[in-house]
Amino acid sequence: MFDILFKNACIVTMNDSEPVIESGYLGVTGKKISYIGKAAPNDKGKREIDCKGNILMPGLINAHTHTAMTLLRGVADDYTLNEWLFNHIFPIEAKLDSRATAIGFTLGVAEMLSYGVTSINDMYFFQNDIIRIAADIGIRGYFSNGIVALSPDYDFYKDRSIRETLEMLEYDLPDRVKPQLSIHSERTSEPYVWDMAVEFAQKHNITMHIHLSETLSDHTECIKKHGKTPAEVLSEHGVFSVPTVAAHCVHVSESDMDIMAKYNVTAVHNPVSNLKLASGIADVVAMQRHGVNVALGTDGVCSNNSHDLFEEIKLSALLAKNKHSDPSLFTAYDALKLATVNGAKSQGNYGVTGQLIEGYEADIIMLDTQKVQNQPVHNPISSLVYTVTGKDCVLTMVQGKILYENGEFMTIDIEKALREMKEYALPLIMG
Ligand SMILES: [Zn+2]
Repeated sequence: MFDILFKNACIVTMNDSEPVIESGYLGVTGKKISYIGKAAPNDKGKREIDCKGNILMPGLINAHTHTAMTLLRGVADDYTLNEWLFNHIFPIEAKLDSRATAIGFTLGVAEMLSYGVTSINDMYFFQNDIIRIAADIGIRGYFSNGIVALSPDYDFYKDRSIRETLEMLEYDLPDRVKPQLSIHSERTSEPYVWDMAVEFAQKHNITMHIHLSETLSDHTECIKKHGKTPAEVLSEHGVFSVPTVAAHCVHVSESDMDIMAKYNVTAVHNPVSNLKLASGIADVVAMQRHGVNVALGTDGVCSNNSHDLFEEIKLSALLAKNKHSDPSLFTAYDALKLATVNGAKSQGNYGVTGQLIEGYEADIIMLDTQKVQNQPVHNPISSLVYTVTGKDCVLTMVQGKILYENGEFMTIDIEKALREMKEYALPLIMG
């Protein structure tokens, strides 16, 4: 007996040997996919869901985000990156406390679940508290607080990022949520800090999340200071000996790409954020040609204004085609892989999630393709990349548990979170 049996589903597996099952069944038992196929299984389900031809696909993986920045949606648009960050964002963030951050995180996760995101790489503040909320909500993810070490009397073990990480390492957490270490970026710390961070990550067996060559000045200032690119200097200090997720990579050179491929560094493409802040357009095709795993992220909502990863999927395809003046170069299937299979690789979960395959963990979403604006569906993969939006998501499941269905959140009190945003979080940070 399955816990849940999906029937009459168009299943986009993201498994290269059979990417699409036009009409089939998918059974879930406990945390895992226990049946997938065209033929009806012998067993019944405790609950049976008639998908009515709608698409089931792997949950999306938002490989770079600052979830609690949801509170800052639309607070400072149309500025240059430096003016935006130093004059608008940092002063607001300085007022955040753990409670306000938790409210922002809860709302951000709710938004993502409603858009079909099942896993995140989250870099922000108060992660020692946030990771427990994530554990309770049921989303999958990695959590870090970026090290910023600009002061000359910086003390690694007094850094709140390190203290939060040490605290998270003490917790008894479900296997789907994990602490991560984060060097915010090359620019915001010194080489001795990277050396300590590498030693710390290796000692505690945790992975790394950084921002890399996001803007042209990030890249060129580093060359002026160190005589090397950010990727070169970080790799020389052993940072990439730790499994690393590197956000943006807009200005990495071809030799940087070789370094990233050599050390299995995942590049996270954040097209909306990069376009909004006019940082440039990462060359996803070139990175993939060099053997770099490329995943997809929304970045914080303050530089995107949405957590709808379907926007990033569509944009990644459009930008890659135009960057190389060849619409055949980067296909819809290539774009969809960024947010699924490649995202799973970025979290060390290849073979665990990111595809719908028997034995894999059941991180699954359903998209309503019966709506008039989504009809007809000649090619499900084309629909998912070029037509569907996050608002078409009607069901989100992580490790076999439904967390969102038809507008309802099973593990989040959304009315309470919205009320606390208005009554507590916004007065605190905007007052
Ligand atoms: Zn970021």
